[in-house]
Amino acid sequence: MKSCIFCKIVNGDSPASKVYEDDLCLAFMDIQPVNPGHVLVVPKAHFTDLTDLPAHIGSHLFQVAQRITLSLPNTGVKSEGVDLFLAHGEAAGQDVFHVHLHVIPRYEGDGFGFRFGPNYSNLPERSELDAIATQIKYEMEK
Ligand code: 5GP
Ligand code: ZN
Repeated sequence: MKSCIFCKIVNGDSPASKVYEDDLCLAFMDIQPVNPGHVLVVPKAHFTDLTDLPAHIGSHLFQVAQRITLSLPNTGVKSEGVDLFLAHGEAAGQDVFHVHLHVIPRYEGDGFGFRFGPNYSNLPERSELDAIATQIKYEMEK
């Protein structure tokens, strides 16, 4: 897609610090890293989000992210743990609408994290968990 920044990077029309490349995907350094070593793994073809992403490409992105994660202890990157993060949709924090899987090195005191909502400490009743599980299960099996 012409106007997509990640398509431009894939096509070589915009610069990026590449980490890994194969037929299906490209991994490169995030331009505004949460922590040093923050990598994005993107499909080479343009898919907006999980809605149009073929499952086998999604699996491949995850496998590459896993390999990047496991390489980190042998690099100079400070990484006591790793978050894999994918924002699906604007409300979930997606800013670039070309699917991408974040590989974010984490360490104690890095200051990054999820902020929980006001109801987080109120645990739902089992009946509520069961009801939602039933709905999702039904839709998945449709
Ligand atoms: P999102 O918020 O959509 O999950 O993540 C988008 C990510 O893309 C952000 O972490 C942002 O820093 C990164 N990003 C945006 N534009 C560019 C760019 O031109 N080059 C690189 N390398 N990363 C970018
Ligand atoms: Zn794109």
